Amino acid sequence: MQADVNPFPLLGNRHDVEEGVGTACERADFSAPAPLVDGHGRVVRYLRLSVTDRCNLRCMYCCSNARQTCIPHTQVLRYEEMARMVGIMARLGVTKVRLTGGEPFARKGCDGFLYMLHSRFPDMDLRLTTNGTLLEPHIPLLRQVGVKAVNLSLDSFDRETFAKVTGRDMQPAVLSALDRLLSAGIRVKVNAVAMRGVNDGQMDDFVHAVRTMPIDLRFIEFMPMGSGTLWNAGTFWPAADIRAEAERRVRLVPEKEDRAEAGPARMFRVKGGKGRLGFITAVSCHFCGSCNRLRLTSDGNLRTCLFDDREYALRHFLRDPAMTDADIERTIRKACTEKPVGAELLANRSGDEVAARQMVGIGG
Ligand code: SAM
Repeated sequence: MQADVNPFPLLGNRHDVEEGVGTACERADFSAPAPLVDGHGRVVRYLRLSVTDRCNLRCMYCCSNARQTCIPHTQVLRYEEMARMVGIMARLGVTKVRLTGGEPFARKGCDGFLYMLHSRFPDMDLRLTTNGTLLEPHIPLLRQVGVKAVNLSLDSFDRETFAKVTGRDMQPAVLSALDRLLSAGIRVKVNAVAMRGVNDGQMDDFVHAVRTMPIDLRFIEFMPMGSGTLWNAGTFWPAADIRAEAERRVRLVPEKEDRAEAGPARMFRVKGGKGRLGFITAVSCHFCGSCNRLRLTSDGNLRTCLFDDREYALRHFLRDPAMTDADIERTIRKACTEKPVGAELLANRSGDEVAARQMVGIGG
């Protein structure tokens, strides 16, 4: 892999000076690049890496009900190319990588890829977001490569509702995986997209789950992403209303903020319960100020904000032998300077959707 050594270490570089992280003289390692800082002073530490846009479920909030066209295989990054990107990101200060999709395990070889990442970047905090339907046989590997927590999408504990939302009657496989993850000592964050008229009548089930299982159950506000999903003003169930519904059943005690661990979720302990309840207020109350993430789509496009359809194509860089890691790094830095405040895009959108690309192709 190309080493990117600053040819003028004693002069530092633009970021050393402008972002107040110390000059190159003050830093112990002269060859370590400056951290990745965006145009709003936010430091990027987290990459969400979509390994595929293919998924075995058809969730009504994630992909359109119209016939889906997938990214052609030739355009999907090879695992080796993805690992190179992770290496570049690691050098730029990224410490956490989340594999997402589509469904990560719907792509052949995802196991081997996790193993490759762990072997090459043993200090990287590896995470996974999955629908859990294909997960169970891979749980021993997750332990082996040190995955500390898994985000499991589960929008309903009612089997029929699950089948309606996802288009597949596969809830038993998800519940079984959830059980196995807990037995293996892996933390589970259950993500439930909150939808009026779909799962808003199921608070008893959700509360029962956090009372009896040591899980973090996070309601995600339904985001208007891509056309043809179920989203409309009527299906939007705001976090404030969800919280009120939960508090009719249980006392919620706010947790101290641990942004690094909780990410965008506001977490609450449940009085007398084993688990916690949380809210990801992606629509009603933004957390853009603390956004530390970038996204890489499976076709090699860098996306600096979930709500921003401007993407920076990196695949041709990765496939051009003349392009070095330093060239790619420069493009990433440039993209970061243009990272917007997503809440502004959401507020100023003209139609329903804030972005055209569907979540299934971005990775959430
Ligand atoms: N297939 C995996 C899964 O189901 O977790 C990973 C991909 S999925 C796109 C990642 C996350 O995005 C899931 O937690 C899903 O619930 C969430 N998501 C998808 N569409 C959403 C939307 N319109 N609003 C809020 N969350 C959404």
